[in-house]
Order: sequence, then C-alpha cells, then structure tokens
Amino acid sequence: MQNEALMEISKKYPEIDFKDLDIMPVPVEVVCRKIGIDVEERSFYEDVSGVIYKKNNGRYYIDINRKHHLFRKRFTIAHELGHFIKHKDVLDAEREILERRVARAYSADEHMRELEANEFAGRLLMPKILFLKRYNDYKDSKDKNAIYKFAVEFEVSTQAIAQRAYNLGLINGR
Ligand SMILES: [Zn+2]
Repeated sequence: MQNEALMEISKKYPEIDFKDLDIMPVPVEVVCRKIGIDVEERSFYEDVSGVIYKKNNGRYYIDINRKHHLFRKRFTIAHELGHFIKHKDVLDAEREILERRVARAYSADEHMRELEANEFAGRLLMPKILFLKRYNDYKDSKDKNAIYKFAVEFEVSTQAIAQRAYNLGLINGR
C-alpha cells in the first residue's frame, strides 16, 4: 500500500483488507463503511461542515453538510475519520465532535486535535508518493489550469493541495 493514512487505519483493523481501496481518488466513504462508520448527508447551517458522533446503539456516524461541494465533503469525511482514528477516547467521552467555522475559543488540546485531523485528512486524500510526483508535474507545467487538474485528480480543493504542500515542506507560507 502506498497510502500511509490507509496503512495507519489498517494497523487498527488487521482483519480488514484495505488494499483495494488504495486507489485514486481515495474512496473515503467506502473506507468509513468498511470500519463501521455510516456516512450521511444532512442539512446544516452553512458554517457547519459536519459532525462525527456515537449513537446509543454503539455505532458511529459522520454527517456532512449536503450543500457543500463534493471536494469539501470528501475533506470533511476524511477529517472526521481522522478524529475517529486518532481521538476515539475524546469522541467516546463527548459523544460527538462538531465542525463549525465560527470563531469559538478552542482549548489548546482541541486546537491540536483539529490540526491532527486535518493533517490525517491530507495524508489520506493526497498520498505522499503520488502527491510529490504530481506536484513536480504541476510546478513545471505551463498550463494555467494545471492546479485545477491536480485538484480534480485527487478530488480535493486547491487550498487542500496548498496545505498538503506546506505540510510536506514544499512551500514555506500560505
Ligand atoms: Zn475536527
């Protein structure tokens, strides 16, 4: 497997075969379903991108804002999955983690968890080896639309690409 985030998931679920999911664009909803998380669309206010929560029946659900663009929905699902993989203890204690854009005072711990979930989402949706290859193509391209083609191939936003490039040390600022 090339996808490091998928490898991280498969370590937690050695009984599940994820190899067929190591494809592009990464089928993030199928990854969730394989580990028992249901993904549904819901009507939220514009500033809410989604939520992950645990029901009394013990099952986990990710609800995403149905009005958002597909690429943004994919990032939200991957972000929530990041919370599930990395912060399950917090999720189980608080029952839900809601993603809301409005400025709210995040504690230092919450802020750290948000960064970790974003970083996980970036790694899952933009596997390093393929990303580096495409990044070089894009850098050397004379095509003004190269960045959009890049984004479409991974089904992520151009901002997500910039952030991933930043996290990989390819660019200095944003
Ligand atoms: Zn979050």
